[in-house]
Amino acid sequence: MPEPGNGGTVPDPVQRFPFRPLLLLPILAMAIGYFVASGRSGRSGEDVTREFEVMRTRARLFIPAGSGSSLAPSELADLAEAAIREIDRLMSPVGEDSDIRRLNSISSGVWIEVHPLTWRVVMEALRWHRLTGGAFDPTIGPVKRLFKFDRSEDGAWPDAGALADAKKRVGAQKLLFDREGMRLSWAQNGMSLDLGAIAKGFSVDRAADVLRDKGVRNAIIDVGGELFLMGMKPGDPPSAWRTGIRHPREGDILETLELSDRAVATSGDYENYFIHNGERHEHIIDPRSGLPLSKGIASVTVVHPGSCLAADAAATAFSVLGPEQTGEFIKNQSLGLFSRGIQAIIVSIEPAGGFSRREYSLDDKGALRTEESRIGENP
Ligand code: AMP
Ligand code: MG
Repeated sequence: MPEPGNGGTVPDPVQRFPFRPLLLLPILAMAIGYFVASGRSGRSGEDVTREFEVMRTRARLFIPAGSGSSLAPSELADLAEAAIREIDRLMSPVGEDSDIRRLNSISSGVWIEVHPLTWRVVMEALRWHRLTGGAFDPTIGPVKRLFKFDRSEDGAWPDAGALADAKKRVGAQKLLFDREGMRLSWAQNGMSLDLGAIAKGFSVDRAADVLRDKGVRNAIIDVGGELFLMGMKPGDPPSAWRTGIRHPREGDILETLELSDRAVATSGDYENYFIHNGERHEHIIDPRSGLPLSKGIASVTVVHPGSCLAADAAATAFSVLGPEQTGEFIKNQSLGLFSRGIQAIIVSIEPAGGFSRREYSLDDKGALRTEESRIGENP
């Protein structure tokens, strides 16, 4: 049952989109770049690269002729694109068919039924909220909206009163749900749901499912830098896909990962941010302080064996948790299925200058492995 509303303000139905703005596309394309063979492979049809704009970012599909499916790569690209667009349609904060838009415009006490896919993502978001002790919180919208993450060098700081008021309207525990009816409601007015840290990853998983269903073994799906690297790059012999972690300031590739059948997601402080009093603040909000992150984590890349949703949520949550707590989190979750095979690479800005790299993973026995190194001199 819903708790009574507190008589607060009615939410603004047209809020800023949580996904990354188009303006940032050229940078995003470099954020995590992959290297694929171009040209023909001599099997069914030709390799297809499909690029399109969705979720206010850019998606890219690479379906090789040797995908493993009997369907042509262009038909497969159509199916994968439709799957990604469906997630956008249901979970964007704007748009006629969006469950999230509807949810963000109801008052406390009103319930809405959502699509089963929206339900799944919302339940996953709440699960990540619980698992991370609240570091992941899909209700940070009211605070996020007070800041402008427009990369300005002299960004404004909101009024303390407005910030205090917004903080009161954050808290995933105030999102009410009714499992049987797949219905959602709010315990308080003025709240909003923002799936910007998890929905892109889910859309990648949906596209991967659709492709697998059609017999695809090898392909790349990329929605705004959240990826699924399916199978191998066809060739003689086939090889692992190669993807790069971007240098957070210089824009070139810091490190290349060679991966097969892995999801990869990155949250970086070089995407949406502003600088205030010389300090960089990024678009991830620490729900504990109610402020944008500024703790010197330049990027978090998460590799996951089966779920891009998990990689996406984890990259955002680990940005909030920071290196030590991320290590603890991975260790404590070692028996949980979702973190088996998980790998987190955190690039931090060192106070004395330069960057450091920390990698956390689990070995075969489920024990935490930590590797640390310095990687550069120019923060
Ligand atoms: P990502 O780029 O996947 O790390 O997602 C960042 C986006 O997620 C932001 O632009 C917000 O819309 C949303 N967000 C910000 N802070 C949080 C948080 N602590 N938990 C969940 N979502 C967040
Ligand atoms: Mg994320």
